[in-house]
This record gives sequence, C-alpha cells and structure tokens, in this order.
Amino acid sequence: MDTSAQSRKERLEEYVNYLASDELKGRGAATEGAVKARNFIAARYRECGLKPLYEGDFFVPFESKGTSYCNVVGVIEGGALKDEYIVLGAHYDHLGVKDGKMYPGADDNASGSAALIEIARELVARKDQLQRSVIIAAFDAEELGLFGSNSLAGFLDDLVGIKNVKLMMSVDMVGRYKGHGSLVMEGVATIRDGRVLASEMARSHSIKISPKNFETSVLTATDTQAFALKGVPTLAVSTGIHGQYHKPTDTPDLIDYDGLDNVSGYLADFALQAATDPDWQASGKVARKHNPKQPAVEFGVLGGVGGSSLSFPEAYISTKSMTDYSVGLVGRANVGVCGFQLEAYYENARSRFPSVDRPLGPSQIYSQQSVTVPAYLLIRTSKTRDAMFLGVGGYYSYAFTHSFSKADPGWDVNPHQGGIATVFGIKASGLLLQWSFRSQIGSLFAADAPQAKMGYASYITLGWFF
Ligand SMILES: [Zn+2]
Repeated sequence: MDTSAQSRKERLEEYVNYLASDELKGRGAATEGAVKARNFIAARYRECGLKPLYEGDFFVPFESKGTSYCNVVGVIEGGALKDEYIVLGAHYDHLGVKDGKMYPGADDNASGSAALIEIARELVARKDQLQRSVIIAAFDAEELGLFGSNSLAGFLDDLVGIKNVKLMMSVDMVGRYKGHGSLVMEGVATIRDGRVLASEMARSHSIKISPKNFETSVLTATDTQAFALKGVPTLAVSTGIHGQYHKPTDTPDLIDYDGLDNVSGYLADFALQAATDPDWQASGKVARKHNPKQPAVEFGVLGGVGGSSLSFPEAYISTKSMTDYSVGLVGRANVGVCGFQLEAYYENARSRFPSVDRPLGPSQIYSQQSVTVPAYLLIRTSKTRDAMFLGVGGYYSYAFTHSFSKADPGWDVNPHQGGIATVFGIKASGLLLQWSFRSQIGSLFAADAPQAKMGYASYITLGWFF
C-alpha cells in the first residue's frame, strides 16, 4: 500500500473501508479478523515512522480472563520532557460475527483507529516540536470490557509511572461529524484551562465541538476509564451514538470522511499542544464516576412510589394500600463502611378501608399529607463511593392534613407520628436506588378514636446525588 501520494482524507477512507470490510469479519477480539486488523495497523505505524514502545515490537500482548489479546502500541519520542507522556488511544476491535451477522463497526471504531493512525502521522511530521513523548495505542478487546486499555494502563504504570502520563485521549466513534453536528469532547475540566484550549483550537480548525466538563454516563464507559481511575486527566472524544450503533448496519458508506479528516487534523493539533505546552497540567478535578473516593458529606434529591396501610389492632383489620408517592431531599455523611442518611420528603399516603361490612364504617379512603424525616445508620458493602447499603433507624412525620373520602368519622389525627425505619439499596455514581420500610410506633388517631397506627409505609425510591 503506497499512501504517500494520497490525501489524508483518502487514506482515512481506505483504512475504514479495509478495517470494516467483510474480510475482517467485524474484528471480534481474539479472532482472525482482529489479527488482520492489528497487522494492518502495525504496518501503518511503521509507514508513519512510529517506534515500538517496548522490546522492538508494536504488538503488546496481554491476557485477560484466560484469553490472549494484543494491543498495538507505538511511541514518538519527545524532547526536553520526553519522560512525560501523552497517550492517544482508539480501540480497533468490534463485535465480530453474531448469529451469522457481521458487525462491520465502521464508526465503532474503524473511524477512531483510522484517525489515530493519521494523528500519529501528523505528530511524527512535527516531531521536532514535541517536548513530551506521545504513545499511540490501538486497543484490543474494548467491546468485551475495556480489557486492552486496562492492560495498557497497568503496563505503563509499571514501565514509566502513571504520574508521568499527562493526558489520555480516547478516540471512539468519530465518523459521524456531519450527522451529529459537532465533536463531543468529554473531560475538558480534567485539564487546566482545557475548555478554553479546546474551544479556541476548534475555532481555528472551523470545527464545532461540544465540550463537556466530565464524562457523566453511569451506564457506558470507554478506554479512558482505567487511566482516569489512576488519576490521569482524560478526554473521551466522539461524534456520538447513532441508530447504527452496535448494529450490522454500521457500515463504511455512512462515514462522513470530510468530517473524519477535519476531526483528525484538529485532534492532532490538540495532542501536539498537550505534548509541547510546558504549562500543560491536570486541573486536579475528576469525573465523579472516575473518583472512587467516598465524599464525607453529600446531598441529593429523591422521589419514591410505594404504598401504606393503617392497622386497627382491636378490630383485626388493615386498610388496603393505594399508590403513595414522596419527593424530597437526601443527605449523607460517610465514614468508612458506615454512614448516616437523613431524608426529608413530602409524602402523600392513601389507603382504602376494605369493605362496607367491616366494623369501622363505610368503605372509604384515608389520605394523609405529611413531611417525613427518616434517619438511618448505614452499613455499606464498600468504603468507596459506590456500594450497596443497609440502614436502620427511625422517622418522624408531621401530618399537616388528612381526610376521609366519605363521612368523616370525626377522629382527630395525631399530627406528630414516628416509628422505626429500615432501608436497603444501592448507589452507583450519583444514582441511588433504594427500598424503604417504615412502621409507626404509637397511635395515629387521638384518644377517643379507635386504636390505629400506620402499620407500614414502603417506597421504592430513586435519587440523585449532586
Ligand atoms: Zn467503541
């Protein structure tokens, strides 16, 4: 393959077409297609003038869960700061063939792999300007769980010390610039002045970017993760998810090659800046999902749906639960695996008296609106930020209104109610999902009414910590 006479756009198109071709059968990790993909990438590295990072070979094999995979890693040595590193990565694997269907993965991530090669070519051409060294990494087995980037993060930590890695940028799905309308750059706040830098440079490249301070998705992760968890500032770059994402229809003809060309040029310049600027620094801020440390105090909002029932012990009956809801605030203090959780929510609790024949009068609905404040002592499964938890404690409820749907039996409600409360749930990043159960101690109605209590009030609650 002679690429010297081609334009960058033509080369990008050629790479994507080859990597997403039938011959490579979707580049499933640990398949023949992945071997062909990495041979192709290594050949391009050689052609660009990259040097192997380690022991004379671009291939850096590793094992994960008993299977062998292989990253393709090259380096461009820097100048005065050559012991500091900028890592540029893109995964080259995709989903392979499933149920007889081939997943070409043209955007995910033949596009990023192609961009990576051209960014490398650009940086080699401007090698004289480089101060920091640049590591170019095509990752294997991303789709299986980020195996390649996990392996390289550990490998680099041993080889050069992870604190010497000053930026990790993951280029994953960058072939749909036109359709998406901008290049998304998540993590600009992890770099000092990162947003300004990225935006100014974008203007000079006539590219529209959507800078996001941090990666926020709780459900997805990309190859930045292993580096970010080790404290490296990271950027996740993409042109977004689309209708062909992880489908057999993610084909090369849908790639916007003009956009891919422009994105590659922009990212090469951005990487050059990171590799040359003597003032380049981490901001010290990290995405919450990349910060496993538990904050000492945190606050959030929550909303729940549940049910409640009154019980009348003397009459041996309970009311039937209806749909209750609650909305309010939550705060937490955390110490190791222990914690204290305080909630305050508005609650609308309703339940129905079972039948006309029962001794307590006509069928009707009792409803009560209150502000409820449960407090729990928590035990958590881990002292890191995300964990399952179990809590026991008590609650206080101030019932400010109540009503009976039919004839009011004239029972005065005790506005001050309280009892025991338990909670069980899980917290992941900012997201809280919990199940709570309360039972009243004391009496619901005043002395001249039948003996009754809020036998239970139970909620499934979703919350979000800021
Ligand atoms: Zn991907």
